[in-house]
Amino acid sequence: MKAIFFDRDDTLIKDVPYNGEPDTVVLMPGARDACQTLKKLGYALFIISNQSGVGRGLISKEQVDAVNQRTLDLLGPGLFTAVYCCFDLPDQAGESCRKPSPKMLLRAAREHGLDLAKSVMIGDKLSDVRAGKSAGCFAVYYNSRHDADELALAQSEADYVTDLLADAVGWIKRFP
Ligand SMILES: [Mg+2]
Repeated sequence: MKAIFFDRDDTLIKDVPYNGEPDTVVLMPGARDACQTLKKLGYALFIISNQSGVGRGLISKEQVDAVNQRTLDLLGPGLFTAVYCCFDLPDQAGESCRKPSPKMLLRAAREHGLDLAKSVMIGDKLSDVRAGKSAGCFAVYYNSRHDADELALAQSEADYVTDLLADAVGWIKRFP
């Protein structure tokens, strides 16, 4: 099974830092169409998200779950296979699951029998691109925040860079 791994904040929904309020969830432009088209193309869809607000004690796991559920509800029923979140702090010692680590993607692949070489990570940060590449996936940099420094690095590290999710879908559609 091939998969699309979506980052959540500023990729599928507008980022609200350490968001624990499902009522504030707003989809990013084109997110719903992108998910529905990719699902129809035969991809299993996953959310892969760093949520250090839990590790920082700012929000609970239940609040993260509620925001995730609201996200899935807005995108449309039955689209996503699973959601993986890492609650670690950025400076946590040891083997963190946080992107750019590929750990959440590798776990999803193990648990769902995914072919990582035919899968794609899509996100708005270099850490998304690096997690995807480290996992052996294609990586799309979604330039939703217009961060000039990250964009410059993404041009050399990502397989595809775009300002529009629809363009990423068009690029994936051309895969053999
Ligand atoms: Mg993001």
